[in-house]
Amino acid sequence: MAVVFPLIAILAVAGYGFLKVGYGRWSSPARRPDPEMSAPAPLTRRALLFGESPVGTVAMRPPRAVEAGLFAERCTRCDDCVRACPEQVLVRDGDGLPRFDPTRGECTFCGDCVQACASGALQASVAPPWELRASVHEGCLPAHGVVCASCREVCPESAIHVAPGARGAATVDAARCSGCGACVAICPVGAITLAALPQEAMA
Ligand code: SF4
Ligand code: SF4
Ligand code: SF4
Repeated sequence: MAVVFPLIAILAVAGYGFLKVGYGRWSSPARRPDPEMSAPAPLTRRALLFGESPVGTVAMRPPRAVEAGLFAERCTRCDDCVRACPEQVLVRDGDGLPRFDPTRGECTFCGDCVQACASGALQASVAPPWELRASVHEGCLPAHGVVCASCREVCPESAIHVAPGARGAATVDAARCSGCGACVAICPVGAITLAALPQEAMA
């Protein structure tokens, strides 16, 4: 008994040390996504409560929406487009207007929302469907030595380039990007956002 007791104590201390080193390695800044990098855009209290767009951004309307002012006039807030979307990527904003939320998935441009809209706020004649384009921010893992190409793998337009060997952030070819949003939700650190890009900027 006099030998067994110190032996148990030694094993317990050694086990604790092993676990601590292991955890320390896993949780070192090099392995862990930086919370600053993955932080979502700031939301107001009202936005959090009512699902509004983040501060400083223009709400992303459904594809083939008429000009913003006219859209707000024509849209009757009926939610028909929101209900019609098979991908469930449209949400009702705090003001009742519909908004595309790419964190819910990809717009396939199926046109169901446009067909469902009886008010003229969404029109099949609006082309291109929108001017949204993806952009990659500094949190992108390959820019920090971590291999990742999730966005490239899901992009239906082959618009994303990721250099092999984690040598720099992913880049988006704006001329190919359709703004579908498939890359947004898949990114493990939230490094991709969509924003309206004027056509001339894509030339
Ligand atoms: S085009 Fe289709 S997938 Fe895209 S928002 Fe409209 S209903 Fe949804
Ligand atoms: S999904 Fe794309 S943008 Fe996100 S970390 Fe991976 S390579 Fe970067
Ligand atoms: S928004 Fe769609 S088309 Fe554009 S880069 Fe992302 S996945 Fe590709």
